[in-house]
Amino acid sequence: MAQPTLVKPGTKVKLADYDPDYHGSLSKRDPEVAQRLEAAATSMYKLQQRLYAESEQALLIVLQAMDTGGKDGTIRHVMSGLNPQGCHVASFKVPTTQELAHDFLWRVHRQTPRKGQIAVFNRSHYEDVLVVRVHKLVPKKVWRRRYRQINEFERLLTETGTRILKFFLYISKDEQKERLEARLRDPSKHWKFSVADLKERKLWDQYMEAYEDALTNCNTEAAPWHIIPANRKWYRNMVVAETIEATLRDMDPQWPETDVDLSDIVVE
Ligand code: AMP
Ligand code: MG
Repeated sequence: MAQPTLVKPGTKVKLADYDPDYHGSLSKRDPEVAQRLEAAATSMYKLQQRLYAESEQALLIVLQAMDTGGKDGTIRHVMSGLNPQGCHVASFKVPTTQELAHDFLWRVHRQTPRKGQIAVFNRSHYEDVLVVRVHKLVPKKVWRRRYRQINEFERLLTETGTRILKFFLYISKDEQKERLEARLRDPSKHWKFSVADLKERKLWDQYMEAYEDALTNCNTEAAPWHIIPANRKWYRNMVVAETIEATLRDMDPQWPETDVDLSDIVVE
């Protein structure tokens, strides 16, 4: 049976129920894979043009994953088919002193897409209930209430014309080991290697627990989570592209009508 990616709101997420290695009955070189990717990309491009022209709705794509989970690769791959004028990528790092002087959503709200735009978050406000929780950067009573605050924030966005797509790119701990080793082997990947990633890796189980709570507590009808089996990059890219395409199709952006009658206009 196909492994569904959309998590039904109200279900308690147990990551053990999901297989990060899942890839259906497909293999990387199946012509079907290339065809599906191509079809999604072509359609996405056309829909984005309409979204941009319409300028009534926006799309926010949230990417969360463990280190090496494929956030950068997904962005590179999925965004390459879009018109850069209508896209915006925001990467959330360790907060600056200025950011820490505000509420945790301040820096996030500033990066949300304007009408007509697609914004992609490379990490997001979810770090504030993930890394922050695992490293006890704030007391429990502070991060506990963030689930509700996040739900209210996301509701504000969806009620004002922004669709939210949240992807958890789920890799296994073994796959992360391979990817970290690959970064060590390949000089062109050294810049991506961070000794801090090894420390985070030791906290894998705590992170999975924090992810399960975020995926359970912040999974609303308005802004549901998708758990993407991400051990295989080609499968991850295909599923993410198809999900974005289906969402844009569902948003159904329309070419705007002009209020002037253009039928008599002659360009001389
Ligand atoms: P990278 O995505 O590899 O460039 O790393 C960014 C780092 O910033 C990761 O280790 C994140 O966990 C960390 N980070 C992002 N947001 C926060 C936050 N709100 N509080 C603390 N650390 C964060
Ligand atoms: Mg990193």
